[in-house]
Amino acid sequence: SKEMKSDIEIAQEAKVEHIRDVAARIGIEESDLIYYGNNKAKISDELWNKVKDRPDGKLVLVTAINPTAGGEGKTTITVGLGQAMAHIGKKAVIALREPSLGPCFGVKGGAAGGGYSQVVPMEDLNLHFTGDFHAITSANNLLAALLDNHIQQGNEKRIDPRQVVWKRCVDMNDRVLRNVVVGLGKKSDGTVREDHFVITVASEIMAILCLADDLADLKRRLDRIIVAYDYDGNPVTAKDIKATGAMAALLKDAIKPNLVQTLEHTPALVHGGPFANIAHGCNSVRATKTALKLGDIAITEAGFGADLGAEKFMDIKCRVAGLAPDAVVLVATIRALKYNGGVAKDQLSKSNLDALKKGIVNLEKHIENIQKFDVPVIVTLNSFITDTPEEVAFVKEFCEERDCEFALAEVWKKGGKGGVELAEKVVKTLETKESKFHPLYADELPLAEKIETIAKEIYGARGVIFENTAKKQLAKIEEMGFGSFPVCMAKNQYSLSDDAKLLGRPKDFDIHIREVYVSAGAGFVVALTGAVLTMPGLPKSPAAYQIDVTDDGKITGLF
Ligand code: ADP
Ligand code: MG
Repeated sequence: SKEMKSDIEIAQEAKVEHIRDVAARIGIEESDLIYYGNNKAKISDELWNKVKDRPDGKLVLVTAINPTAGGEGKTTITVGLGQAMAHIGKKAVIALREPSLGPCFGVKGGAAGGGYSQVVPMEDLNLHFTGDFHAITSANNLLAALLDNHIQQGNEKRIDPRQVVWKRCVDMNDRVLRNVVVGLGKKSDGTVREDHFVITVASEIMAILCLADDLADLKRRLDRIIVAYDYDGNPVTAKDIKATGAMAALLKDAIKPNLVQTLEHTPALVHGGPFANIAHGCNSVRATKTALKLGDIAITEAGFGADLGAEKFMDIKCRVAGLAPDAVVLVATIRALKYNGGVAKDQLSKSNLDALKKGIVNLEKHIENIQKFDVPVIVTLNSFITDTPEEVAFVKEFCEERDCEFALAEVWKKGGKGGVELAEKVVKTLETKESKFHPLYADELPLAEKIETIAKEIYGARGVIFENTAKKQLAKIEEMGFGSFPVCMAKNQYSLSDDAKLLGRPKDFDIHIREVYVSAGAGFVVALTGAVLTMPGLPKSPAAYQIDVTDDGKITGLF
């Protein structure tokens, strides 16, 4: 078979329609578009008022098994499935997250899909796009600057500099910023204290932007952010230090969903981008709700494996926004199944039926997990050219034995027409199987028990070990009145456990809770497990080394 072109080559050869025409096909008038050039637009706040009383379309979540470092193709499948819907006469609207520069220059590369199932313009999407991440980073860092200035200018709220919990952020994998000291120098240079950076996609502002209904709700949420504790241990909020108005001003355009298109001109709302390992992992509620009003079927993706992204989609996003998925597409790849069966990273393209048979327990666990939410599940195998017919047949049979719909997806190689079988299975599921969606746990359950429920039910853990600090933090959070919040688990994405090396379907392990904090504006409690970090680092040979731009402005080497 002849060499496939690279993602960026395919994307750059694509005929991109004027975004006005893409919008028109889903009934968006030009007056509701705010153009960012010819092929990107933001959607006006007025559009929501025009469509909000329409019936919703069906909501389909795309999730995956535990991935390899390269990603298993959730975005590729989401885009391909959206494109395929047009081939069977259905109107799909895709709702995705915006990529972060961290992975773009790190290991994974961009997040616009791949092959013939991509969102375009992929370079814009993967780089600065419409500036939303800039706005979020700026709002985050404005709050940090106002906080340190508050301390400097007399510290009216008696903020304890040792108990500042607000962190600065940057959208970059930059490990040296994990722990820093600020305020060195003279008296006029501020108060010296230890500070920290998180990557922008882990910032509470990102979560707030994704969960807010509108600008008014965004402001109420910003008000509630806890930035520090005072000398008596009482929380000090963003409202207390008068930060909210200016932050909201920076975010007024960022909260509007972005409209772009796929290679086959399927509309895609790409908005918000929290990571799923260290944040809640879903695109904005606004974009998803808009997609449900504009299409027959809204297809959305949650990050990493179903243990992280799908669990948080169900327990945080759907709970908070009153959404309910009608079906889940669970993406598997032969390479990730082999990886879960113990094959080394550099051997994954070699046929290995034994490792596949060993690693398939990971898929089994994720099927069971989705069923715990009582949502119908369709497994799709994202087809790679290295897959053998025996390997594919084995996975198909495995799913069918479990009474699970199965479809091979060739959307990477063939675009929408490679996803027709999957689209048909999804539509058949939507028409014949009823979703009885419910979250995994009730609001009233104490926080520690919520964490235990997720650890045991979803991860398959034996139990949970809370470090002493985490125990104290949990007690304090409940005392402050946030006990009814859902929990946002921060965990590595490679394993169902908190140890990235325990692959497959690990048993007899405990989950270790190191630290717990409340994101009062986002409306959830974050639990850090194992060694998970909220600021990633770059690998020895970062993807950035391959990226360049020609003298006439054409980007190369981005994937
Ligand atoms: P995820 O959303 O699950 O993280 P992506 O859809 O971003 O995964 O895909 C990750 C990478 O894998 C992309 O670079 C994409 O081009 C590539 N990829 C996805 N599907 C295939 C496939 N079937 N064959 C080859 N490469 C693929
Ligand atoms: Mg993705």
